[in-house]
Amino acid sequence: MQRQTTAVVAMDGPAGAGKSTVARRVAQAFGFTLLDTGALYRTVALAARRAGVTLSDGEAMTRFAEQLVARNGLEIEPTEASGMRVRLDGEEVGQAIRTPEISMGASQVSAIPGVRSALLALQRDFVRLGRARGVVCEGRDIGTVVFPNADVKLFLTASVDVRAERRYRELADEGASVSLEATRQEVIQRDAQDEGRAIAPLRRADDAILVDSTGLDLEGVVDKAVDLVRARLAAEAAR
Ligand code: C5P
Repeated sequence: MQRQTTAVVAMDGPAGAGKSTVARRVAQAFGFTLLDTGALYRTVALAARRAGVTLSDGEAMTRFAEQLVARNGLEIEPTEASGMRVRLDGEEVGQAIRTPEISMGASQVSAIPGVRSALLALQRDFVRLGRARGVVCEGRDIGTVVFPNADVKLFLTASVDVRAERRYRELADEGASVSLEATRQEVIQRDAQDEGRAIAPLRRADDAILVDSTGLDLEGVVDKAVDLVRARLAAEAAR
């Protein structure tokens, strides 16, 4: 594969590992664009639900995702402060993709090979055709499948309890009425699905740097990630 001209920082890891915050802050620190790939899987799940497509029907979901991408129905929009927003057929999806149901739905549709390949093209085109100096790409298979030649690869993780607690606080802050235990179960089930699927399972790429944030606050993780990315990019530039 050719070396990308846009610097790519791959950030993978399980649910609640702090990826979204860290990815956004790293993007801000370097003036890079953020690509939140989970938001794409979430939007496909939301769109399919609205259209009445059965999420477990592989053929129907493949057709649905292919058509959605072909008609440019999934637009990735960078926002200020290195954020990212998705538009579904022109509509800003906002918090509608952040519910526990859509989290599970995204995990379900992401195990379908046809859905993954439709979104793979979209993710690569965003980086290839964009004008960004660099992209921080956050997901589950970025370092292993989407950008195996990424300039920097980080794999963020933390204990299940810490991740469940973070997810729970995130959801509670957004006003959702969920319990910590239900959130914990969702995190465990989603991890099992994401790690156990046959295609592009969640795993650390051999050359990814492991960042375990159990016992660190997110500010500490952000500082660590920024330092690691800076060092790697400097080493790349010197080669
Ligand atoms: O990261 P986020 O929690 O928003 O992702 C939602 C779901 O989308 C994940 O649980 C996973 O199943 C799927 N996903 C994926 N590959 C990615 C990003 C997300 O399979 N690169």
